[in-house]
Amino acid sequence: MAYTSLYRRYRPDTFRDVIGQDHVVRTLVNQIKSGNIGHAYLFTGTRGTGKTSVAKIFSRAVNCLHPEDGSPCGKCEVCMELALSGNFDVLEIDAASNNSVDQIRELTDKINFPPTAGRYKVYIIDEVHMLSKSAHNALLKTLEEPPEHAIFILATTEVHAIPATILSRCMRFDFRLVPVQKIADRLKFIFDDNGVKYSEQAVRMIASAGQGSVRDALSIADMCVSYCSGDITYDGVLEVLGTSDPVKLVALAEDILAGNVEGALEKIAAMCDLGKSMSVLASDLASLFRNTLYVKNCGSAADLLALPAELYEALKGVAARYDTPRLLAAMRRMTEMEGEFRYSTQHRILLEAAVIAAATEPRSEGGGNVRELEQKVAALAKRVSSLPSRGFEPAPAEKDARQVWGRVASELERRGMGMLVLAASEASVEEHDDALVMKVSAESALRILRDPAHRKAIAQAAEAAGVGKPVVIEEVRKIEEDKVLPYLTNMFGKSLEIK
Ligand SMILES: [Zn+2]
Repeated sequence: MAYTSLYRRYRPDTFRDVIGQDHVVRTLVNQIKSGNIGHAYLFTGTRGTGKTSVAKIFSRAVNCLHPEDGSPCGKCEVCMELALSGNFDVLEIDAASNNSVDQIRELTDKINFPPTAGRYKVYIIDEVHMLSKSAHNALLKTLEEPPEHAIFILATTEVHAIPATILSRCMRFDFRLVPVQKIADRLKFIFDDNGVKYSEQAVRMIASAGQGSVRDALSIADMCVSYCSGDITYDGVLEVLGTSDPVKLVALAEDILAGNVEGALEKIAAMCDLGKSMSVLASDLASLFRNTLYVKNCGSAADLLALPAELYEALKGVAARYDTPRLLAAMRRMTEMEGEFRYSTQHRILLEAAVIAAATEPRSEGGGNVRELEQKVAALAKRVSSLPSRGFEPAPAEKDARQVWGRVASELERRGMGMLVLAASEASVEEHDDALVMKVSAESALRILRDPAHRKAIAQAAEAAGVGKPVVIEEVRKIEEDKVLPYLTNMFGKSLEIK
């Protein structure tokens, strides 16, 4: 049986089922009810917030013979006809892959033919900002004088890249990030519907990992369902996300704030042994410090952050023990990491250097050899960045391999299998004569990518993307980094008192 992703299966069919975009839905429903329909719409917003879903519902609603409360009835002959994939009245174009002027001309040439099933011909152009300049001009021509029966819905994640000439001809709708609570409610509904067991905490974790995108949340949910086989636990979700256990993370944060370098380095080593990604750990720490700052300085933090109760209590404790400048400095150290990670492959060393720097941050004017220590940290950071590494720009061969995988990835995304792209996101890619090799170290990602049904999906996507060779998933062991600690202690000499 072919696997259909949750995202595909639970795509909304009516406006009622669209979550988190009430302001958009209300206006569109009113237009349908009053028959006051425009010719050009622009839907903007982050990925996975429902632009294409709403466009599809709208395209059927304008044509439906008996719309129910502004939504397509799904039963009349027009609705039935439009539900078929080969219909000529609703045309979906992905501008990311069809961005040439010829492709747009081909489309606009046919626009004068009347619709076959309903009253309107609807063109949904996804990622419209990807169109070439001449393609934009061709489109503009049609937008200036569209035939009575034509409706354009342009969707984009990058509204700033749309020419003003196009913007001015469209009715613009901004799709917002969907609140965690709404995504969580939707997830619970879907899990219940599938007889999947889950804990409240696990669902919250998945919902907030989606970062406002329903599609991303559902992709993660997909991974969790297949990883946890029917019973989604908090620990299972943590493993899938590669995120750190909040309890351990709070303990690490406390060590950093208290200046306990030894404790902090031990905890990082333990997390590294578990296969945690150091870049994820750095961003987890950054958001922990940020959340603590909220708790300390913002009366409505509990509502704003929507964290699990135990974690909130733990952060309250941290907030009470340290002052704002201290927390702020620690947060800055961690966010600065994100930029540096891009230029180096020595993530663990970078993170350790940042943690030591944050832990030994001067707290008052006094601080004797703190200056000296700071200089050494700076020297260390400099040495780390000059260590031989593969660098930011991948070697040409690796870059090519990445591009090949990129084609497979967008094919997978198109097929609603974004979860596999997510699972493969930390893999390194190599192109061999006889295969495209994905080297994966995280256990959860391996398990998902090696699942027979998923392997088949990847193979099919690779074929469709014209890769011309099999995609092989290979397990890699983590590089031993035991030499790091002695290296660091050596670097700091005796002035760093590790007790
Ligand atoms: Zn209908």
